[in-house]
Amino acid sequence: MTDSTQKHAQPIWANIIFFGLSFLAAITLVPWYGIQYGFHFSSWAWGVGLWLFSSTAISMGYHRLWSHRAYEAHPLLRAVLAIGGCLALQNSALHWSSDHRIHHKHVDHDEKDPYSASLGFWHSHIGWLLMRRDNGRYNEQYDRCKDLQRDPIVMFQHKYYWPLSIGLNILVPALLGLAYGIFWEMMLVAGVLRLVWSHHLTFFINSLAHMWGSRPYTEENSARDNLILAVLTGGEGYHNYHHKFQYDYRNGIRWWHFDPSKWWIKSLSWIGVTSNLKKVSVEKIEKAKAETLLLKAKDRVAHLPNAEEVMQMLHDEYEKLVQHLAEVYEAQKQWLEAKKNKLIESYEQEHSRLMENYHQLRKRFEEQKASWMTLAKQYA
Ligand SMILES: [Zn+2]
Ligand SMILES: [Zn+2]
Repeated sequence: MTDSTQKHAQPIWANIIFFGLSFLAAITLVPWYGIQYGFHFSSWAWGVGLWLFSSTAISMGYHRLWSHRAYEAHPLLRAVLAIGGCLALQNSALHWSSDHRIHHKHVDHDEKDPYSASLGFWHSHIGWLLMRRDNGRYNEQYDRCKDLQRDPIVMFQHKYYWPLSIGLNILVPALLGLAYGIFWEMMLVAGVLRLVWSHHLTFFINSLAHMWGSRPYTEENSARDNLILAVLTGGEGYHNYHHKFQYDYRNGIRWWHFDPSKWWIKSLSWIGVTSNLKKVSVEKIEKAKAETLLLKAKDRVAHLPNAEEVMQMLHDEYEKLVQHLAEVYEAQKQWLEAKKNKLIESYEQEHSRLMENYHQLRKRFEEQKASWMTLAKQYA
């Protein structure tokens, strides 16, 4: 931590007391209650349900919809996500998005990144919420989120955030507890434990996901891809990809990558609830991966006696790969255009020629990719 960061740090007592007490209650009162009276299935089921609902609201709503505008959503969905965000108790969508946009812009910067991993695990996990650093981040205007200020749902949630979220976090478990006749158990499990658990899992994205995992898409910042974190956070753990391509509605790019938020966003687009889903082209993604591998290999090769020769070889193979990639996508474009343009004469012949051409180039690219990977991985 630099001198200036320490000098400006001021304790935020409300947060220190709240996070401290809720954590203590979760690790003492909850097990004590279980040993003393036993648990009911319903309190755990509701605890898990409310956790999944609120963390999905953070991932799908606060993060991908509002911070990054990775897709558009029907007002009804936006309202549901805003309610889930209140239950998650991570401040308003406007405030959260403002912080998050700064995080992306100044990632890993000691002073400017609000939860910079460069200041260590504690700071990026929760320390930044306990000690305020005066870096002019919290202006009342939320200048970086002018677009969000035009969304009446965001502004309504922002204006009534505290009564709504305190109300929901007490009322929902209280009413459930009364309905099931297990008031205190529901308050402890679906209230306190659920909240502490979901807080720390989200916080792991700022801390662990910048420290633990792989960096296939970029090594320009500390963000990592981590499957375990992806499973625990509804898909947010593919954080290296996300920092490289923040506007993509997906974090795990293949359909089978564990990313429930992506599955929700995509499925809801089939019934028109979400629209304009932003997606980075495979060409760009492949290029980022190849470039990262090249840079990794370069670092390792530098000390070898035949460094220059190996570097030249890596470069040549990389150039060939990028060239093949560009040709594949050019061929694909032509093929798709021909498909759209069915009226041209001799369409059938032309179409099959373009399709054939595309498949051949694709095959050539895949072969080059395999030989490139084998070569670069020897050194990376
Ligand atoms: Zn990050
Ligand atoms: Zn982000």
